[in-house]
Amino acid sequence: MIGLKPIHESIYKFLLIFICILVACGAQKQDRDVSMLAMKHHIVKKGENLELILNTIVPRPTTTAIIDALSKGGFPFRKCLPGDSIEIHTKNDTFIELMYHQSRTSEYYVMNNQHHYAVAMKLPYIDTTLCLLRGEITSTLYESMLEQGETPNLVYRFVDVFAWEIDFVTDTRKADSFYILFEKTFCDSQFVGYQNIIAAYYKGEVGDYVGISYRDPDGREDYYNLKGESLRKSLLKSPLRFSYISSYFSKRRYHPILKVWRPHHGLDYVAPVGAPVSSIGNGTVTYKGWKGGYGNLVEIRHKNNFKTRYGHLSRFAKGLYKGKRVKMGELIGYVGSTGLSTGPHLHFEMHKNGVPINPLKVKIPRAPSVKKKYMAAFQERSDSLQQYIKELCDTEPKEIAQGE
Ligand SMILES: [Zn+2]
Repeated sequence: MIGLKPIHESIYKFLLIFICILVACGAQKQDRDVSMLAMKHHIVKKGENLELILNTIVPRPTTTAIIDALSKGGFPFRKCLPGDSIEIHTKNDTFIELMYHQSRTSEYYVMNNQHHYAVAMKLPYIDTTLCLLRGEITSTLYESMLEQGETPNLVYRFVDVFAWEIDFVTDTRKADSFYILFEKTFCDSQFVGYQNIIAAYYKGEVGDYVGISYRDPDGREDYYNLKGESLRKSLLKSPLRFSYISSYFSKRRYHPILKVWRPHHGLDYVAPVGAPVSSIGNGTVTYKGWKGGYGNLVEIRHKNNFKTRYGHLSRFAKGLYKGKRVKMGELIGYVGSTGLSTGPHLHFEMHKNGVPINPLKVKIPRAPSVKKKYMAAFQERSDSLQQYIKELCDTEPKEIAQGE
């Protein structure tokens, strides 16, 4: 046994050296591997497509194999847009992996697994949440809603729900209250947009208004009040979304330029140059051009012998022409100060059977109500929505904006 020890020792020494050599070789091998790894990064530019890009980085057969794998994996090639980023890893000039970042959140991977190309995708998580926004008017509806962190788009949608009932130009007062039940869409927790307004409410000096969205089984969709009457009428209340009236309809008004007393057969809405002007109803353009004191004028003929005029425009909407059929709310021009005008404003006139009438006093028929046979279904929806809103208001801490 004694004689064995040195042999054992020498064997151990040999093994140790052998392991060291192996480790050294391994390390050296790894070092060499790292030097053979390469990564190419590319941002997609206008006019480029994935195939073109890949051909500049990997051999053509590899490109074909990658494209093939991606097609099988359902990659949306049409959505390959400028700004997307591509990362390609190679080892000893052999393709290993591709990472494609599409838009902000979608990611696609192609991996070379012994010349079998596997595809993996990380698609965005889209989530739609029902939200309730409520508050009081402190300055304007616009500012009161934006103060609560929402974007102008939601304000416009809210205004549109009540466009036939409330003129947010003239009817809003401090301490009026509102709520909106609406859907907000998030993509991987990032806000991407608003969906529908489900229910809306406005209470003020102008009255109490509720708008409930309802789509009947025939597919007719609209906003209705609690009685099931459509909020929509055949004409909008105002051709501008935000402004105020500086001069009302009058039989006798002292003209600021002509310095004479004469009737003012319309409303003057003060708004900045360039503010969009919309047709208040469906109709046909009967005049577009310069007309004396009106400056640039658009005249539209509507059903039921109504006619509207929009004067002092700075310019007309693109593609507007005499004879064109326009829809309610369609852009027709922009506020200006052309013709006999002291400053930027819209001169708005309404005529019935050829006689000028006061737009603020006109009674306009409503769109059809919920059909009788669907009334029970509508009532059920309306009741459950109101109940839901009430519960939300009761549980939510009071965050109503305080007036100054
Ligand atoms: Zn005027």
